[in-house]
Amino acid sequence: MSRTVYVNGDYLPEGEARISIFDRGFLMADGVYEVTTVIDSKLIDFDGHFTRLQRSLDELGIENPMDREAWLEVHRQLVAQNEVDQGMIYLQVTRGAPGDRDFVFPDPETTKPTVVLFTQSNPALVDSPKAKKGIKVITIDDLRWGRRDIKTVQLLYPSMGKMMAIKQGADDAWMMQDGEITEGTSNNAYIIKDGRIITRALSNDILHGITRAAVLRFAREAQMPVEERSFTVEEAKSADEAFVTSASTFVMPVVEIDGAKLGAGTPGPLALRLREIYIDESRKAAI
Ligand code: PLP
Repeated sequence: MSRTVYVNGDYLPEGEARISIFDRGFLMADGVYEVTTVIDSKLIDFDGHFTRLQRSLDELGIENPMDREAWLEVHRQLVAQNEVDQGMIYLQVTRGAPGDRDFVFPDPETTKPTVVLFTQSNPALVDSPKAKKGIKVITIDDLRWGRRDIKTVQLLYPSMGKMMAIKQGADDAWMMQDGEITEGTSNNAYIIKDGRIITRALSNDILHGITRAAVLRFAREAQMPVEERSFTVEEAKSADEAFVTSASTFVMPVVEIDGAKLGAGTPGPLALRLREIYIDESRKAAI
């Protein structure tokens, strides 16, 4: 089925959507994105994603082309037109397409941001076979730039990291800086030891996950102690449980790190409980 996508104000069949070859997203990775999950045809944490989008744009000096209500309307239109029950909406805003390639930013008066949104359906999001088995991760050096708090479209290294993991028979990679884990290629990373949930504190070293914020809030509400601090690979390997969070995987148990099984090598009880709480609460709050 051909999807309806959104490009710069128009709803179009995906095959008719066009972007200039001079677009700075294409030439310079000069753009930001968000992924918002859809469950029961409703948006999970729309406001969290909108707020982070605004922050990413502000950090790069790109004007937000739409206000909250306009963004919400486009999201809802695409969910309705593409009949998405479970899945996600991808949005991207770039600095736009000046007439030439140039390192200097174009004048925002004459070059307007490019806006693209599309949907991806995934009926197995909530009832995920992967979550029942857990995932295996490898560790790799974190070779990304120093502003990982900005959700830019520069995803080549994370993409290479995922490929390194797949080549080694694993599912994903956790990235490492000075012996400590920063985050996963497309998710935030956590370990659990003696009932305590440990995850790196927010800084420019990691993306400030919207799912992370929600999961830590739900954990504290459920009286699960949370420590926001760095942890080493060795500490991770001797943890009782581990998991990752992201908008599209929610809470995903990790059962193996660099070939070392955690506990019994099956998803841990606290990770599974957090997954359940996250899905239940997010569903209730979806708009
Ligand atoms: N960290 C990185 C590097 C990511 O790319 C993502 C999601 O794409 C996350 C963390 C999780 O963020 P969120 O929970 O907002 O999806």
